[in-house]
Amino acid sequence: MADRTLIIIKPDGVQRHMMGAIISRFENKGFKLVAAKFMQISESTARKHYAVHEGKPFFEGVVKYLASCPVMVMVWQADGVIEMSRKMMGATFGFDAEPGTIRGDFGCSKGYNLIHGSDSVESAEYEIPLYFSQDELVDYTLADEDWLYGRND
Ligand code: UDP
Ligand code: MG
Repeated sequence: MADRTLIIIKPDGVQRHMMGAIISRFENKGFKLVAAKFMQISESTARKHYAVHEGKPFFEGVVKYLASCPVMVMVWQADGVIEMSRKMMGATFGFDAEPGTIRGDFGCSKGYNLIHGSDSVESAEYEIPLYFSQDELVDYTLADEDWLYGRND
């Protein structure tokens, strides 16, 4: 099966009306959406989500930020989706993310950075079940898959 990644449009992305603009980038790239949920993340789920950062100075702040307002949680699928989506997101903070990236084009804050994306297969496998059960991950074929994922070799 193709790779999957967990993408969250964070509270500032929702509050700043950026959901459509961000989702468009992934749709236009040709990723397949396999799950989506508009929801408010509980503080306890936010703690699990960022467990890898526990003990770091920004941990409490990022937990509060993620749980502060509704977010759009999604799973996107494509071969290589994790590396591609991380490149599309850009560096962690908008002030040093490259133009052309989501964080580089849409933000300049240090604390708020619009989007979360899994950084490895292991992270995706940990993060996706925090938000979705297996039967919420929809399996289907896009009509243009042969064109989107056609091989050049
Ligand atoms: N973060 C922060 N201050 C820091 C580092 C990170 O507020 O010095 C927040 C920021 O929202 C970031 C999240 O913690 O997206 C997770 O940090 P990570 O290093 O995993 O960055 P990412 O994978 O999101 O680029
Ligand atoms: Mg990270």
